[in-house]
Amino acid sequence: MTLFKCPRCGATSSSDWVCKCGFPMEIVPEKLIWSVDEREPSIWRYKSLLPHAERIVSLGEGLTDLRRVDGVLVKDETRNPTGSYVDRGSSVMVSSSNMAIGELEFLRDVTISLASYLIASGKEVRVIVNPEEVDVSELLYLSQLKIPISFSVRETRASYENPFMIEGFKTIAYELYEFKGKFDGVVIPSESGILAYGIIKGFRELEEMGLMEMPRIYLVHYSGIGGEFIEFLKSLGARTMSLDTKDTMESFIKLAKMGIYVKPISAMAYSAASRLGSEYVALLTGSSMRRWRVGSFAPLTELQRRILEVMRDGKEMTAYQIWRLVEGATLQGVYKALLKLSRMGLISSERKLYKRRMKRVYRLRTSANRL
Ligand SMILES: [Zn+2]
Repeated sequence: MTLFKCPRCGATSSSDWVCKCGFPMEIVPEKLIWSVDEREPSIWRYKSLLPHAERIVSLGEGLTDLRRVDGVLVKDETRNPTGSYVDRGSSVMVSSSNMAIGELEFLRDVTISLASYLIASGKEVRVIVNPEEVDVSELLYLSQLKIPISFSVRETRASYENPFMIEGFKTIAYELYEFKGKFDGVVIPSESGILAYGIIKGFRELEEMGLMEMPRIYLVHYSGIGGEFIEFLKSLGARTMSLDTKDTMESFIKLAKMGIYVKPISAMAYSAASRLGSEYVALLTGSSMRRWRVGSFAPLTELQRRILEVMRDGKEMTAYQIWRLVEGATLQGVYKALLKLSRMGLISSERKLYKRRMKRVYRLRTSANRL
C-alpha cells in the first residue's frame, strides 16, 4: 500500500492526495537505492524508485534531450509524447494509482496528457469543457484524440497536484544526474509550483542517496504560485528570479528561429539560465498543442487560424461567408486554406442545396458537433 505524507505538517494518509492543511501529499519511497535499467527508454528506467505499478502505461515519456542551444544548456521537455512534461506524471498516475477517473476537467496540457495515457491504458475518458474558457484549437485537438467532450461551467479541479504527478516530475532530476552529473543549477518555469516541487524532491532523494548535492534551483514566472507554497519551496532552497518582458520575448524569438517552440515562460527560463552561467540548465516546457501545430501537420498559417476562429460556433458556412468574416484575405486564399484544413481533418465539407443552389458548405469538425 502506498503511504502519503504531507511535506509541510507531516500528516500521513493512505488515501488522501491532498493534506487537510491544503498541501499536496508526497510519496515516501520504501527504500532509496539508486538503480537504472539502461535498456528502458522511458522514466521507468528508474522503476525501483517510483511507486509500485501493477501495469506500466508508458508512451515513451522522459529521456528528453539535454543539449546546448547557443551556449545555454537546455532540457527540452517538449520532446515528451504529448509535448508536455506532464506526461511523466500522467504515466506514473495511470500506472501506479488505482484511480477511477472517468471524467476530467479540461485544464489544457494536463488533460490532454492525462487523457492520452488513460486512453492508452484502455480506460474510458470524458472531458468536461467549460465553453466560456476553451480555445477552439484545444477542442480540435481533443476531438482528434477521439475523446468525448461534455460542456459544463461547473468548477472542479483537475487532478494535477497529487503525489503521483510529483513522482513523475522527480525523474527530471534523476535524468539530469544520470546524463549530466555535475552542473550548477536548474531554472524551472513555474506556474503552480508542482513541477518545481517534484524536481526538488528528486534532487533531495539523490542527495539522500549520497550521489550529489542539491543544485541551485531558480524559479521563473513564479507569481502564480500560492504564497504559502512558494515559501515552502524557498524553505527547500528554491530561489526566485524575475526577468523583464523584453528579455523574455527576445529569447522566445531566438528559440523559435531555431525551431524550438516553447511557452514564453520557458523562454524566460532560457533567458535566466543564459545570465546565471554556462552550467545552468534551463528547463523548456512546451505545450501539448505543439504536436498538433508543428508535429503531425504543418503549422497553421495565420489565415487558417483565423478561419477556424470564425467557424468556432460550429455552424455551416460557405466559403464566401467565411471570406467575408476573415479580413484581409482573397477569396481564392480562403478556398486554398479551407482545402488544407479539410485535408488536415479539422473541418468537413459537403455539397448542399443552399438558398436553391447547390453549394459547398463547411463546418468545424469537433466532437461538439455531435453532442
Ligand atoms: Zn499537511
